[in-house]
Amino acid sequence: MKKKLNILPDNPEDNLGRFPSFLHRKLPKGNDLFETGELVKKYRLNTVCEEAKCPNRMECYSKKTATFLALGSACTRACGFCEIDFSKNPLPPEEDEPERIAQMTKELGLKHVVITMVARDDLYDGGGAQIARIIRTVRKTNPGITVEVLTSDFNGNIGALDLVLLEEPEIFNYNIETVKRLTPKVRHTATYERTLSILEYASHKGRNQFIKSGLMLGLGETQSEVHEAIHDLHNAGVEIITMGHYLQPSKRKLSVKQFITPEQFKAYEEYGLSIGVLHMYCGPFVRSSYNADLFVKAHAEHTNT
Ligand code: SF4
Repeated sequence: MKKKLNILPDNPEDNLGRFPSFLHRKLPKGNDLFETGELVKKYRLNTVCEEAKCPNRMECYSKKTATFLALGSACTRACGFCEIDFSKNPLPPEEDEPERIAQMTKELGLKHVVITMVARDDLYDGGGAQIARIIRTVRKTNPGITVEVLTSDFNGNIGALDLVLLEEPEIFNYNIETVKRLTPKVRHTATYERTLSILEYASHKGRNQFIKSGLMLGLGETQSEVHEAIHDLHNAGVEIITMGHYLQPSKRKLSVKQFITPEQFKAYEEYGLSIGVLHMYCGPFVRSSYNADLFVKAHAEHTNT
């Protein structure tokens, strides 16, 4: 009898053993990294690229794209996968933060910038007004730049979400992070359903070029659950889906439950495209904002033809 080909085992923990070679990657070194690190200090900013020691940093910097973490470095939530510091009462938003982000963007000569944020459930608007100010200031100082925002759910505050959408970022991104069943364990406060309704709302507003979301794989999800998430995102109007491998940032955080092979990532990519998702970007080292500039360029070329 032929052996059944099973890329993802029924019990996801079955293939958990030594760290597989496809998850090995040398951390980059080089002048671009040094220069960016120095600018981060100079402007008293946080970039997700540096904080997370992202392995794609060199590639992104060389393509003139980077991700800033706005509204401070402490979050009012404590998600099971995220290493960002928790605080019930973080410092208030800084008046000059938009200008500092705009100036560093200029000094780095970025063509595409990603603004992400911690969740600020302590603020009446969840930080929406500050994100809107950052977008406006970055554009004023850097004519022609494209902007992606990777937001929180603003605790379901649609007025706060509108403040951001009115600025018409080229990409509106809000990550669903994981499949429905695992959401309560993986995320803090955010729900699967509310994530979909935020994305659907942003999509219906019709102001943004792209609506985007992403998942981490390796937390114990099954293939059918991932397919369900892709379907749900597609139905909510999401046009770009990213999927990367979850890597445990410290012992205090959720552990990796299974290793997802590059072949399985490819299969998810093909599945998403087959049901009509415009762009699927899936692979072990894919992160939310990796190659975001490519989508914008592709769209600009498409609309100009
Ligand atoms: S809300 Fe975002 S920044 Fe805050 S802990 Fe969760 S993933 Fe990290």
